[in-house]
Amino acid sequence: MSERRAALVTGSTSGIGLGIATAFAKAGMDVTLNGLGDPAEIEKTRKGLEAEYGVTIRYDGANLMDGSAAEAMIASAEAAFGKLDVLVNNAGIQHVSPIEDFPIEKYNSIIALNLSSAFHTIRAAMRGMKARQYGRIINIASAHAHVASPFKSAYVMAKHGILGLTKTVALEGATFNVRCNAISPGYVHTPLVEAQIPDTMKARSLTREQVINDVLLAAQPTKQFVKVEDIAGVALFLTTPPADQINGAAINVDGGWTAA
Ligand code: NAD
Repeated sequence: MSERRAALVTGSTSGIGLGIATAFAKAGMDVTLNGLGDPAEIEKTRKGLEAEYGVTIRYDGANLMDGSAAEAMIASAEAAFGKLDVLVNNAGIQHVSPIEDFPIEKYNSIIALNLSSAFHTIRAAMRGMKARQYGRIINIASAHAHVASPFKSAYVMAKHGILGLTKTVALEGATFNVRCNAISPGYVHTPLVEAQIPDTMKARSLTREQVINDVLLAAQPTKQFVKVEDIAGVALFLTTPPADQINGAAINVDGGWTAA
């Protein structure tokens, strides 16, 4: 078994997840990547991280809409590295619509991926973490875990739910040196945010500039997008000894959005 920490980051083929996986690799962890995307691009990313940081990077293409696939992904990561030290539940999708028009299949997908997949990965990882007396679980929540915005009913439900899961797992792992925390980002300019701009333009009859300045950044007192690296830095901190007593917390990285 390698001396290096073994991490798994869901939804790490893009955006925040890729930023976290990169920060972990840079810090000397072996990492399992997960997420959808072009296989050639993903392989390029995997090889690039290995070459740059001298760690082992695996890829598991599990579709996390499916609980048994999530479970199998954890088992194969544990088998490959002999352990799983750090689990980041980050995979997520968004859909913006008034609730009366919200497509049922979009609702089901958002709950399955943004909420239930974290239950399934943690359920599968917890036994091993407790037995090894070490685990750091990080759930990527959102400012929408604390406050709502119109037209995001399923997303806001899922993100509020993930805080309940975070607190419960924090209590269950407390005496086993397993920690569970959430990070709540404000708006980070990733493909997920880019993709919702056209829907918000339509739902609110606004131009692209109005959506960016008057809807997205309107909530953020700093008037700046959060950077992927800001979230990755907090995630990495949560794996270090000074964070050992941080448990069941939600760390807001939102430019002051939820302070208002
Ligand atoms: P992104 O679209 O850039 O990345 C999402 C990742 O999830 C990708 O790797 C994608 O392949 C993966 N994914 C999608 N469907 C999947 C599936 N069925 N199975 C496995 N993986 C799947 O998004 P992002 O902005 O980096 O968001 C990452 C997380 O951060 C999400 O949970 C999101 O809710 C949260 N978040 C984002 C923002 C923001 O402003 N970008 C703000 C707050 C919270």
